[in-house]
Amino acid sequence: MAYLTLRNINKIYPNGFHAVHDFNLEAERGEFIVFVGPSGCGKSTTLRMIAGLEDISKGEFLIDGQLANNLGPREREVAMVFQSYALYPNMTVYDNLAFGLNLQGVDEDIIEARVQKTAKILGLTEYLDRMPRALSGGQRQRVAVGRSIIRKVGVFLMDEPLSNLDAKQRVTMRSEITQIHRETGATTIYVTHDQTEAMTMADRIVVMKNGYVQQIGTPKEVYFHPVNMFVAGFIGEPPMNFIRRVVKQGCIEVGGASFDLTKRLGEKAAAYEGKEIVFGFRPEAVVLGTQENAYVTHGMVELTEMLGDNANVYLDIDQDKAILKVTPHEIPDMDTQLTFSIPHESVYLFDAQTEMVIK
Ligand code: ATP
Repeated sequence: MAYLTLRNINKIYPNGFHAVHDFNLEAERGEFIVFVGPSGCGKSTTLRMIAGLEDISKGEFLIDGQLANNLGPREREVAMVFQSYALYPNMTVYDNLAFGLNLQGVDEDIIEARVQKTAKILGLTEYLDRMPRALSGGQRQRVAVGRSIIRKVGVFLMDEPLSNLDAKQRVTMRSEITQIHRETGATTIYVTHDQTEAMTMADRIVVMKNGYVQQIGTPKEVYFHPVNMFVAGFIGEPPMNFIRRVVKQGCIEVGGASFDLTKRLGEKAAAYEGKEIVFGFRPEAVVLGTQENAYVTHGMVELTEMLGDNANVYLDIDQDKAILKVTPHEIPDMDTQLTFSIPHESVYLFDAQTEMVIK
């Protein structure tokens, strides 16, 4: 049975704003779930409903099969790490870590052992006597994570815990949190607007937009099988290229080459005759030059960006813009015509009206 169940969860704020619509999720014990989506899509609101910090307007929330809608935050046995570290400035790292256990009246010996173990996991042993102001941002963030994992709760809730860190610290903490998750085995729900964090950390990703869940799946599922243009554009960097075309005689023209829809869609193609569809492909899916089992097309090189391990090539394809990701050795000259191949299986087609993928 799922450990956390969200069944048609809705949030309507007192001012009437409907922030979350019919959110459904079953999280297994020990799963690492990431909520991802642009600012304001309802990630934090959903997390706060799970934490018990926000009322659930409609729907059912179950922990281990038991209805939990009306349980207070403490009764839910969840620990939450917020974006702001919320450490006690006048307490040492040791006391910050021990605080929650002290409140619960846990034995001194047990507290000592747990503080030491938590500090070891997080690499904080040598900082236990320090005040938070004498720590770097990353170290403070580790203390904040430590304060939650020390409690040995069943569920960790993390709301953008890395957003105050610089890029390098984020990468380090990302792998540390994944490691801690492996060691503690606690069910974790992690909120971020950063698709790289989502892809690297999650067992499953929940992609949200405007209060609605768009797709729930493993990182591979949302990357290779996005259900709609929003997910296809949100997951992946640079985002998927989209080219709109009207279907004529079962075909669309892209970059002077013809793509036969009937080959991909069979009889379904007829339904799109005279209508607009969206041709999608990922920047990293292309191969330069002409390849077999691929759709071969062309574009004019407008700009190139050398990034070190790879390079972005900005193309104009009949006045549509596209980006290709190539190796640094493949960077073409500006203002030249570039021929490239998109493997058949890397072409995505979307209904231009509904924005849903056409299978
Ligand atoms: P971010 O990444 O910016 O934190 P988010 O996806 O976590 O965004 P939420 O904080 O859940 O988004 O907010 C979802 C929507 O609900 C937003 O449009 C926000 O303005 C609105 N909202 C949040 N709190 C309230 C409130 N107390 N009353 C009314 N509307 C609210």
